[in-house]
Amino acid sequence: MTAERILIVEDEVEFADLVRLWLDRHGWQTLMAHDGHEALRLFDGERPDLVLLDIGLPGLDGWQLIDRIRERSEVPVLVVSALGAETDKVRGLGAGADDYMDKPVSFPELIARVQAALRRSRRGAASSPDPGIVMRGPVRIYPQSHRVLVEGIEIHLTPTEFRLLRHLAERPGELVRHRELLQAVWGPAYGDDTQLLRVTMRNLRAKLAAAAPERRFIATEYGLGYRFAES
Ligand code: CA
Repeated sequence: MTAERILIVEDEVEFADLVRLWLDRHGWQTLMAHDGHEALRLFDGERPDLVLLDIGLPGLDGWQLIDRIRERSEVPVLVVSALGAETDKVRGLGAGADDYMDKPVSFPELIARVQAALRRSRRGAASSPDPGIVMRGPVRIYPQSHRVLVEGIEIHLTPTEFRLLRHLAERPGELVRHRELLQAVWGPAYGDDTQLLRVTMRNLRAKLAAAAPERRFIATEYGLGYRFAES
Protein backbone atom coordinates (compact mmCIF):
# COMPACT_ATOMS: atom_id res chain seq x y z
CA MET A 1 0.00 0.00 0.00
CA THR A 2 1.40 3.37 -0.93
CA ALA A 3 1.66 5.94 1.83
CA GLU A 4 -1.21 8.36 2.08
CA ARG A 5 -0.33 11.93 1.21
CA ILE A 6 -1.02 14.89 3.38
CA LEU A 7 -0.95 18.49 2.24
CA ILE A 8 0.21 20.86 4.99
CA VAL A 9 -0.96 24.44 4.41
CA GLU A 10 0.75 26.71 6.89
CA ASP A 11 2.58 30.03 6.59
CA GLU A 12 4.51 29.74 9.84
CA VAL A 13 7.51 27.90 8.48
CA GLU A 14 8.88 26.63 11.78
CA PHE A 15 5.55 25.19 12.85
CA ALA A 16 5.02 23.71 9.37
CA ASP A 17 8.41 21.97 9.56
CA LEU A 18 7.52 20.49 12.93
CA VAL A 19 4.21 19.19 11.63
CA ARG A 20 5.97 17.71 8.63
CA LEU A 21 8.50 15.99 10.89
CA TRP A 22 5.75 14.37 12.94
CA LEU A 23 3.82 13.24 9.88
CA ASP A 24 6.93 11.91 8.13
CA ARG A 25 7.84 9.97 11.23
CA HIS A 26 4.44 8.25 11.10
CA GLY A 27 5.01 7.14 7.55
CA TRP A 28 2.90 9.60 5.57
CA GLN A 29 4.11 11.50 2.55
CA THR A 30 3.90 15.22 3.02
CA LEU A 31 3.42 18.15 0.69
CA MET A 32 3.85 21.68 1.89
CA ALA A 33 2.34 25.00 0.90
CA HIS A 34 3.03 28.32 2.63
CA ASP A 35 0.25 30.35 1.00
CA GLY A 36 -3.23 29.80 -0.33
CA HIS A 37 -2.50 29.90 -4.06
CA GLU A 38 0.36 27.45 -3.76
CA ALA A 39 -1.95 25.21 -1.71
CA LEU A 40 -4.59 25.14 -4.41
CA ARG A 41 -2.03 24.49 -7.13
CA LEU A 42 -0.56 21.58 -5.15
CA PHE A 43 -4.02 20.27 -4.34
CA ASP A 44 -4.99 20.15 -8.01
CA GLY A 45 -1.68 18.68 -9.11
CA GLU A 46 -1.16 16.09 -6.40
CA ARG A 47 -4.62 15.15 -5.09
CA PRO A 48 -3.60 14.59 -1.47
CA ASP A 49 -5.56 12.21 0.80
CA LEU A 50 -5.94 14.79 3.57
CA VAL A 51 -5.39 18.54 4.04
CA LEU A 52 -4.12 20.16 7.23
CA LEU A 53 -5.18 23.75 6.95
CA ASP A 54 -4.22 26.96 8.70
CA ILE A 55 -6.78 29.79 8.44
CA GLY A 56 -4.64 32.94 8.51
CA LEU A 57 -2.69 32.69 5.25
CA PRO A 58 -1.35 35.03 2.59
CA GLY A 59 -3.11 34.86 -0.79
CA LEU A 60 -6.30 32.88 -0.36
CA ASP A 61 -7.14 32.42 3.31
CA GLY A 62 -8.22 29.15 4.86
CA TRP A 63 -11.96 29.86 4.51
CA GLN A 64 -11.63 30.51 0.80
CA LEU A 65 -9.49 27.41 0.44
CA ILE A 66 -12.10 25.20 2.09
CA ASP A 67 -14.67 26.47 -0.41
CA ARG A 68 -12.38 25.78 -3.34
CA ILE A 69 -11.45 22.34 -2.06
CA ARG A 70 -15.09 21.42 -1.44
CA GLU A 71 -15.97 22.38 -5.01
CA ARG A 72 -13.50 19.72 -6.08
CA SER A 73 -13.51 16.91 -3.56
CA GLU A 74 -14.64 15.36 -0.29
CA VAL A 75 -11.08 14.91 0.96
CA PRO A 76 -10.83 15.25 4.77
CA VAL A 77 -9.86 18.78 5.84
CA LEU A 78 -8.51 19.31 9.34
CA VAL A 79 -8.28 22.96 10.37
CA VAL A 80 -5.40 23.81 12.69
CA SER A 81 -5.80 27.41 13.66
CA ALA A 82 -4.83 29.99 16.25
CA LEU A 83 -8.16 31.80 15.96
CA GLY A 84 -9.62 29.43 18.46
CA ALA A 85 -12.96 30.95 19.44
CA GLU A 86 -16.07 28.79 19.35
CA THR A 87 -17.44 30.89 16.49
CA ASP A 88 -14.43 29.95 14.36
CA LYS A 89 -14.95 26.31 15.12
CA VAL A 90 -18.59 26.64 14.12
CA ARG A 91 -17.60 28.47 10.98
CA GLY A 92 -14.88 25.96 10.10
CA LEU A 93 -17.12 22.94 10.48
CA GLY A 94 -19.98 24.73 8.72
CA ALA A 95 -17.70 25.60 5.81
CA GLY A 96 -16.89 21.95 5.24
CA ALA A 97 -13.93 21.14 7.46
CA ASP A 98 -14.05 17.71 9.09
CA ASP A 99 -12.31 18.61 12.29
CA TYR A 100 -10.88 21.63 14.04
CA MET A 101 -7.91 21.96 16.39
CA ASP A 102 -6.73 25.04 18.24
CA LYS A 103 -3.09 26.08 18.31
CA PRO A 104 -0.99 25.36 20.22
CA VAL A 105 -1.60 21.75 19.26
CA SER A 106 -0.50 18.60 20.98
CA PHE A 107 1.33 16.66 18.27
CA PRO A 108 0.27 13.19 19.49
CA GLU A 109 -3.32 14.44 19.35
CA LEU A 110 -2.79 15.85 15.88
CA ILE A 111 -1.50 12.45 14.73
CA ALA A 112 -4.49 10.69 16.31
CA ARG A 113 -6.90 13.02 14.54
CA VAL A 114 -5.17 12.60 11.20
CA GLN A 115 -5.36 8.82 11.62
CA ALA A 116 -9.04 9.01 12.53
CA ALA A 117 -9.88 11.27 9.57
CA LEU A 118 -8.05 9.00 7.11
CA ARG A 119 -9.77 5.95 8.57
CA ARG A 120 -13.20 7.56 8.16
CA SER A 121 -12.39 8.57 4.63
CA ARG A 122 -11.22 5.03 3.70
CA ARG A 123 -14.34 3.57 5.27
CA GLY A 124 -16.48 5.98 3.26
CA ALA A 125 -14.76 4.98 0.05
CA ALA A 126 -15.00 1.26 0.82
CA SER A 127 -18.70 1.42 1.60
CA SER A 128 -19.60 3.34 -1.55
CA PRO A 129 -20.67 0.29 -3.63
CA ASP A 130 -23.47 -0.27 -1.10
CA PRO A 131 -26.55 1.36 -2.55
CA GLY A 132 -28.54 1.10 0.73
CA ILE A 133 -30.76 4.15 0.35
CA VAL A 134 -32.24 5.35 3.65
CA MET A 135 -35.78 6.73 3.40
CA ARG A 136 -37.40 8.35 6.44
CA GLY A 137 -40.50 10.32 5.63
CA PRO A 138 -39.39 13.23 3.44
CA VAL A 139 -35.68 12.51 4.02
CA ARG A 140 -33.82 10.46 1.41
CA ILE A 141 -30.19 9.55 1.99
CA TYR A 142 -28.15 8.13 -0.87
CA PRO A 143 -24.93 6.71 0.55
CA GLN A 144 -23.44 5.88 -2.84
CA SER A 145 -23.64 9.35 -4.29
CA HIS A 146 -23.46 11.10 -0.89
CA ARG A 147 -26.65 13.03 -1.62
CA VAL A 148 -29.48 13.99 0.69
CA LEU A 149 -32.91 15.15 -0.39
CA VAL A 150 -35.39 16.70 2.05
CA GLU A 151 -38.89 17.10 0.63
CA GLY A 152 -37.33 16.81 -2.78
CA ILE A 153 -34.79 19.57 -2.15
CA GLU A 154 -31.13 18.63 -2.23
CA ILE A 155 -29.17 19.78 0.79
CA HIS A 156 -25.39 19.93 0.76
CA LEU A 157 -23.80 18.31 3.78
CA THR A 158 -20.17 17.99 4.72
CA PRO A 159 -18.94 14.38 4.92
CA THR A 160 -19.18 14.55 8.72
CA GLU A 161 -22.71 15.94 8.73
CA PHE A 162 -23.67 13.25 6.26
CA ARG A 163 -22.38 10.46 8.51
CA LEU A 164 -24.12 12.00 11.52
CA LEU A 165 -27.48 12.19 9.76
CA ARG A 166 -27.11 8.72 8.32
CA HIS A 167 -26.18 7.14 11.65
CA LEU A 168 -29.30 8.61 13.30
CA ALA A 169 -31.64 8.00 10.38
CA GLU A 170 -30.64 4.34 10.26
CA ARG A 171 -31.93 4.06 13.86
CA PRO A 172 -35.30 5.83 13.76
CA GLY A 173 -36.91 6.43 17.14
CA GLU A 174 -33.87 5.10 18.98
CA LEU A 175 -31.97 7.15 21.55
CA VAL A 176 -28.37 7.36 20.32
CA ARG A 177 -26.08 8.46 23.10
CA HIS A 178 -23.43 11.17 22.68
CA ARG A 179 -20.57 8.77 23.11
CA GLU A 180 -21.88 6.23 20.61
CA LEU A 181 -22.51 8.94 18.06
CA LEU A 182 -19.08 10.52 18.48
CA GLN A 183 -17.32 7.19 18.19
CA ALA A 184 -19.38 6.06 15.22
CA VAL A 185 -19.09 9.30 13.28
CA TRP A 186 -15.64 10.62 14.24
CA GLY A 187 -13.81 7.59 15.64
CA PRO A 188 -13.04 5.69 18.85
CA ALA A 189 -10.90 8.49 20.38
CA TYR A 190 -13.69 11.09 20.16
CA GLY A 191 -16.11 9.74 22.77
CA ASP A 192 -15.88 12.79 25.03
CA ASP A 193 -15.79 15.60 22.46
CA THR A 194 -19.38 16.69 22.95
CA GLN A 195 -18.58 20.21 21.73
CA LEU A 196 -17.64 18.84 18.31
CA LEU A 197 -20.93 16.93 18.24
CA ARG A 198 -22.96 19.92 19.36
CA VAL A 199 -21.48 22.22 16.73
CA THR A 200 -21.86 19.72 13.91
CA MET A 201 -25.43 18.96 15.00
CA ARG A 202 -26.27 22.67 14.97
CA ASN A 203 -25.01 22.97 11.40
CA LEU A 204 -26.82 19.82 10.27
CA ARG A 205 -30.09 20.98 11.80
CA ALA A 206 -29.77 24.40 10.16
CA LYS A 207 -29.41 22.75 6.75
CA LEU A 208 -32.37 20.43 7.37
CA ALA A 209 -34.45 23.38 8.58
CA ALA A 210 -33.57 25.42 5.50
CA ALA A 211 -35.18 22.74 3.33
CA ALA A 212 -38.12 21.93 5.63
CA PRO A 213 -38.70 24.75 8.15
CA GLU A 214 -41.86 23.14 9.58
CA ARG A 215 -40.29 19.80 10.40
CA ARG A 216 -38.06 18.72 13.21
CA PHE A 217 -36.21 15.55 12.33
CA ILE A 218 -33.75 15.22 15.18
CA ALA A 219 -34.85 15.46 18.81
CA THR A 220 -32.46 16.29 21.65
CA GLU A 221 -32.51 14.09 24.73
CA TYR A 222 -30.88 16.50 27.15
CA GLY A 223 -27.68 15.19 28.68
CA LEU A 224 -28.08 11.86 26.87
CA GLY A 225 -28.04 12.07 23.12
CA TYR A 226 -30.25 12.43 20.05
CA ARG A 227 -33.12 10.64 18.45
CA PHE A 228 -34.22 10.64 14.83
CA ALA A 229 -37.95 11.33 14.90
CA GLU A 230 -40.00 8.45 13.53
CA SER A 231 -41.95 9.59 10.55
CA1 CA B 1 -1.08 31.54 9.80
